[in-house]
Amino acid sequence: MGSMEGDALTPARPPKPSSFRRWWVNLYEGVVSTAQGMSITLRTFFKKPVTVQYPEQELELDGRYRGIHFLEQDLCIYCDVCAKACPVDCIEMDATRHGKELEWHVFTLDYNRCMLCELCVYPCPKDCIHQGEEYALVTENREDMVLDLLTWKGLTDEQKQKIAETEAAKAARDAEKEKGE
Ligand code: SF4
Ligand code: SF4
Repeated sequence: MGSMEGDALTPARPPKPSSFRRWWVNLYEGVVSTAQGMSITLRTFFKKPVTVQYPEQELELDGRYRGIHFLEQDLCIYCDVCAKACPVDCIEMDATRHGKELEWHVFTLDYNRCMLCELCVYPCPKDCIHQGEEYALVTENREDMVLDLLTWKGLTDEQKQKIAETEAAKAARDAEKEKGE
């Protein structure tokens, strides 16, 4: 049936590479790759381990780490700039102004959405919102991911006293004005 090598119907096949030579190449490559792997293993073997037994042990963080936020509430002026700068709209705040004093009701940050991008930190005119080194926020409840950044709510005794003093001074001024008229 015309299948003989080199006949008119079937072209001649190229000669196979020498299997003996291939065997030596395989052996060489196997020895070299094993030696490379072992050299990496040996180098790593004498290095200090980089893993730690979390949560008993914790890694030291870089100074620029952007973790969970904290607020210096006494400096905050309720200007809303941080909330407006947030690209995912995850900061909510509410306060009542009593002259210069602020009665805080809400200042929350929703970590279900927060990207820890720090875009809320830079525009703050009072430099009072920061990202710290805390990162553990483990919960089974999504609602627990909305953190309250307020240290206190409402008015402190000091604020109440200042408001009372301001109101008393204003009442005295008004009374003086009335006397004059
Ligand atoms: S870190 Fe980014 S995403 Fe999170 S609150 Fe600030 S601006 Fe919004
Ligand atoms: S930008 Fe700063 S001062 Fe203004 S509301 Fe945010 S934290 Fe407060």
